[in-house]
Amino acid sequence: MSATLQVTIQPVRQQRMFQNSPTAWMNSGTCRIYPPATFFPTDGTGVIAAQKICKNCPVASSCLEYALSENIEHGVWGGTSERERRRITKSRLNVA
Ligand code: SF4
Repeated sequence: MSATLQVTIQPVRQQRMFQNSPTAWMNSGTCRIYPPATFFPTDGTGVIAAQKICKNCPVASSCLEYALSENIEHGVWGGTSERERRRITKSRLNVA
């Protein structure tokens, strides 16, 4: 059995292909122009720097909800630190 690999160089089409994906919002994240490590800081100063970028992100709420629903523990998502997401999760569990 053999497999054929097809490679295309059509980013616009590719973007359209993922528009219906549950993570399509990632295409509009402000962070897409920064190195990923920016959002996985190792200290509080790095967290603050990442949060400043997230502050003006048009998809911050989708990003936060995604991180909460997927239980993503590490990094800055939706402008929240790891500790802040733990607090949000805990408070939502207490309400339910
Ligand atoms: S909220 Fe922050 S981490 Fe999430 S997509 Fe926007 S810039 Fe990226």
